[in-house]
Amino acid sequence: MVEYDVIIIGAGSIGVPTALATANDDLKTLVLDFLPSVAQADNKHAIGGIRATHSNIGKALLCKRSIEIFSKWEEKFGDDIWWNQGGYTFLSFTKKDEKMLRDTVKLQRSLGLNIDYLETEKIKDLIPGINEEGLLGGTFSPEDGNASPLLSLHSFFRQSKDFGAEYHFNEKVIDISIKKQKVVGIKTTKAKYKTDVVINAAGAQAKDIGSLIDLDLPVEPESHEAGITEPVKKFFSPMVVDIRPCIDEKFGNSKNYYFYQNNEGKIIFCLTPNPSILGIDRRETSSFLPQITKRMVQLLPRLKNIKIRRTWRGLYPMTHDGNPLLGKIEEIIGYVNAVGMCGQGFMLGPGLGELLSRIVTEKITPGDELILNNLTPKRDFFDEEGLK
Ligand SMILES: Cc1cc2nc3c(=O)[nH]c(=O)nc-3n(C[C@H](O)[C@H](O)[C@H](O)COP(=O)(O)OP(=O)(O)OC[C@H]3O[C@@H](n4cnc5c(N)ncnc54)[C@H](O)[C@@H]3O)c2cc1C
Repeated sequence: MVEYDVIIIGAGSIGVPTALATANDDLKTLVLDFLPSVAQADNKHAIGGIRATHSNIGKALLCKRSIEIFSKWEEKFGDDIWWNQGGYTFLSFTKKDEKMLRDTVKLQRSLGLNIDYLETEKIKDLIPGINEEGLLGGTFSPEDGNASPLLSLHSFFRQSKDFGAEYHFNEKVIDISIKKQKVVGIKTTKAKYKTDVVINAAGAQAKDIGSLIDLDLPVEPESHEAGITEPVKKFFSPMVVDIRPCIDEKFGNSKNYYFYQNNEGKIIFCLTPNPSILGIDRRETSSFLPQITKRMVQLLPRLKNIKIRRTWRGLYPMTHDGNPLLGKIEEIIGYVNAVGMCGQGFMLGPGLGELLSRIVTEKITPGDELILNNLTPKRDFFDEEGLK
């Protein structure tokens, strides 16, 4: 039976950058996925937003490191992953949201993040043509950005293989072998492997993997839709996030929505339905487009003549507070959680991959301890992510 230093379950937003980090740290690494190739579950449904500006300290620190990796990737490894440092802007239209955003700016600045609260006139420069009715300004974090999830994952995949990582596709993990409370191996639909360390990076199916070792992981899949337009001349740079709730009796209520213009000039957009749609349904709906286009055109009227090319629907692996569950557990030695990425798995991937590798090599730093304490599955889940 082949033996590995670490086996990663899932070749997605988290599993692939983790394999990149573990293989780079000379760990004999195997990634298992039941799908036929890399990034075929929810990575390819992400719209590509990458920000360090979170209200949760652990996530902010992980994404800060991710941004360093994304932004230097092409220079270091030669692949263009469409990294674009266009920033993020969260808009406010009520005094309550303005206060909430100004408060998060204080927190984020205390973490060393470059973010400011801008008055309406400056927001108008950032988003030419924005409807300023009721607009009270918004945050702007110029170092945040976006990249192509598929180009990034494929590039991370190739590089991880160059470092020695192995991938087995079309192979479903069906058991984690445990002896005396220690991981000793993995059983799949095709083979058995020996290992002392298993990382659960199974995304929307993370709970099923947990149940193999009687672990009840509070990770529930939630459906979210997105879409993309035809390309037009680039006219704005940041990811625009409108956090106003919207009541729409005909097509359904929604919370926030967000959009940006990608490298090719196409506008990519996504909406958070209200209430959340729990479950694993990835079939797109006919209500999503009327819901979101009405909101986008109201905010930025010049979008109204741009044609939409396609829509899609994917899953957020959600947790109660909108933050991931990370790290080792006391019950089973050698099992590591990298689950519950919610709507931020793509941006967390590279920074988290390095941290996971340091967990396996037992080289965690005081900064890592802070992140792990912050995102431990043992937390009380009351401190909900403000900018989820
Ligand atoms: C519409 C939409 C927009 C989004 N936009 C963004 C965004 O802008 N920025 C961002 O950061 N995130 C975004 N996300 C969220 C992001 O896509 C997810 O958080 C992320 O992909 C989760 O990463 P993961 O590695 O946990 O899961 P995945 O990428 O889904 O990978 C999990 C892998 O595990 C495999 N697997 C599961 N069970 C088994 C098993 N038993 N055996 C073998 N393999 C198994 C699956 O096949 C899958 O390939 C968005 C999501 C959606 C739906």
